[in-house]
Amino acid sequence: MADEKTLFQRIIDEEIPADIVHEDERCVAFRDNNPQAPVHLLVVPREPIPSLEAVSEDDAPLVGHLFVVARRLAEQEGIAEDGYRTVFNCGGAAGQTVDHLHLHLLGGRTMSWPPG
Ligand code: 5GP
Repeated sequence: MADEKTLFQRIIDEEIPADIVHEDERCVAFRDNNPQAPVHLLVVPREPIPSLEAVSEDDAPLVGHLFVVARRLAEQEGIAEDGYRTVFNCGGAAGQTVDHLHLHLLGGRTMSWPPG
């Protein structure tokens, strides 16, 4: 039978190694292995919600928690003062490649706008 776990579920379950920087009962955060900025973290809920498109009103506290964790990690990583970006890529046109909700936290360089 095919393994139906997402890549990020396998990281959360410690089947695939990752540089984990935060863990709690609702989410795990680790360093992106193809960083787009000096600090590039992914904050991932333990629940394998496929994307922002699948988020319901009931998930609002969880999604809020992901942002609070990202804010704390920005401080921990020393990028809070200069500024940082949080991103949910949602769907193929936005560049989502892993179908497990994840909040990108990027910082440590000046960002341009609009994003590519
Ligand atoms: P997306 O493109 O779906 O918004 O973001 C997926 C992110 O996961 C990408 O930034 C990509 O570099 C990262 N990624 C893909 N595979 C792995 C992996 O095996 N380990 C880690 N740490 N990050 C990964």
